[in-house]
Amino acid sequence: MPANVREVTIRRTVGLDAYRAVAGAEPMLGDLAELGAELAHLLGPRRVWMLNSTAVGGGVAEMLPKLCDLLNCLGVDTRWLVLEPDDPAFFRVTKALHNLLHGESGLEDVGAARAIYDRVSREAAARLREKVVSDDLLVVHDPQPAGAAALIPAEHRPALLWRSHIGLSYSNEATRRGWAFLRDYLSAYQRLVFSAEGYIPEEHLPRSAVLHPGIDPLSHKNRELRPYKLVGVLRASGLLEGPPVPNWARFGNQASRFEGGRWVRAPIPGLLHAPVLLQVSRFDRLKGFQHLIPAFERLIAQGPSVSQRLRVDTERAASELGCVQLVLAGPDPQGVSDDPEAAQVLEELCERHRALPGPLAARVHLVRLSMADVRENALAVNALQRVAAAVLQNSLKEGFGLTVAEALWKRTPVIAANVGGLGVQVRHGTDGLLVNDPADPGEISEAMLRMLAFPKDAERMACAGQLRVRDHFLILSQLRRWLEELRTMVEAPARATEPAQPGVAAAPPQLH
Ligand code: UDP
Repeated sequence: MPANVREVTIRRTVGLDAYRAVAGAEPMLGDLAELGAELAHLLGPRRVWMLNSTAVGGGVAEMLPKLCDLLNCLGVDTRWLVLEPDDPAFFRVTKALHNLLHGESGLEDVGAARAIYDRVSREAAARLREKVVSDDLLVVHDPQPAGAAALIPAEHRPALLWRSHIGLSYSNEATRRGWAFLRDYLSAYQRLVFSAEGYIPEEHLPRSAVLHPGIDPLSHKNRELRPYKLVGVLRASGLLEGPPVPNWARFGNQASRFEGGRWVRAPIPGLLHAPVLLQVSRFDRLKGFQHLIPAFERLIAQGPSVSQRLRVDTERAASELGCVQLVLAGPDPQGVSDDPEAAQVLEELCERHRALPGPLAARVHLVRLSMADVRENALAVNALQRVAAAVLQNSLKEGFGLTVAEALWKRTPVIAANVGGLGVQVRHGTDGLLVNDPADPGEISEAMLRMLAFPKDAERMACAGQLRVRDHFLILSQLRRWLEELRTMVEAPARATEPAQPGVAAAPPQLH
């Protein structure tokens, strides 16, 4: 069967009015209604389509359903499509491309990679043509489906906007190769949108804009959980011990935890009774999980003497350090189709876990969260982020870290690597702590210690962080920017020039 493009049903959610309940949102709602009505009028019967490469797992799939739903609430007819390649090699190519764009080497055999990418893109383009008409607007997320939209024949091709969720604020040989791979496809796009100014490659500056992602305060991932509900979610997802969960509150899928060298379905011992340092992310090498284990080891080994030097309340610090746990959680790799490396990354973490001395191993928890039910997964992530003493995001590269915004919105203190978008989201010492070198266990463990040893500071930063998220990184600000961008597309006087025909050229484009 050839590659496919599937439409995902967008479920009606709470609607825009529900956001009146979010403190500080009221003025924005009036603006949105006005901008939405204007855009809907300009569009008439035309549709806006979103296209990405997975319906579950990761930040893009996280944001899209709600964004589509809210645009629909504002009268902008918006649909969601997912590219489904027929060959796992396609995602290996796009993963390598993703790594290149993040400055990591890879994609050695460009000719072979391009052949796979072109074939799948071409087949997907044919499927797209059956759904999208040339008057519509097509918004394409990330490199995976960029080729599919570009390869729709020009006379049928709608206006195209490419949304990059990738970001690196410097270029190197790898990024140049990555952008060269995409260049011809992107030439078919009228507009490109990035998460931060610094991520826009120079060649694309003239038709690019910035749009910060935002989180949804009313989603299962972020909504308030009263303590009884929170405890129920943790129990239902198999993370917390306790009496059996009543039938109505049961989850269909439980988390598993790595213990004694194998995966078991067993709660995290002492969760809720000891401080937890949490990173919850996809199991991707660039998320920097691998450096958190040695950092935690160091925290346990050296924390007590350091805290004495820092003259903190040493009795308190000693007791916290005596029971603090590290939880490294992420989607069960089986449930994330567009990330073929996840299983391998998780296996490497398991290797590290096996090598830990027993008492330490008992305090480092690798957790696989089921992705089979998006709501259950979101609630589990929500509950974990709420119970954590601090949320870590130790990414080596990061376009924009949704997990950081999620944690801060819940007023959980954050330690993040000072890379990419994370350094924009968190102001060091104001909203959280930034670690300059995410590969340096010493620096990470110092930040961990600071969060545990100075709880008042941690609380102050978390409060400031919550306000920052409210003002800049909620879905409402994001929605406003989308309305502006879509309007720019509608009002653009003419289509972009005819793109180079990627893949049609006899020889693949030269990579520099
Ligand atoms: N996430 C999730 N389930 C998990 C682990 C992560 O839903 O088991 C979510 C996380 O809460 C966040 C998103 O995946 O909303 C990750 O987005 P981020 O911007 O941090 O990184 P990306 O995955 O887009 O690189």
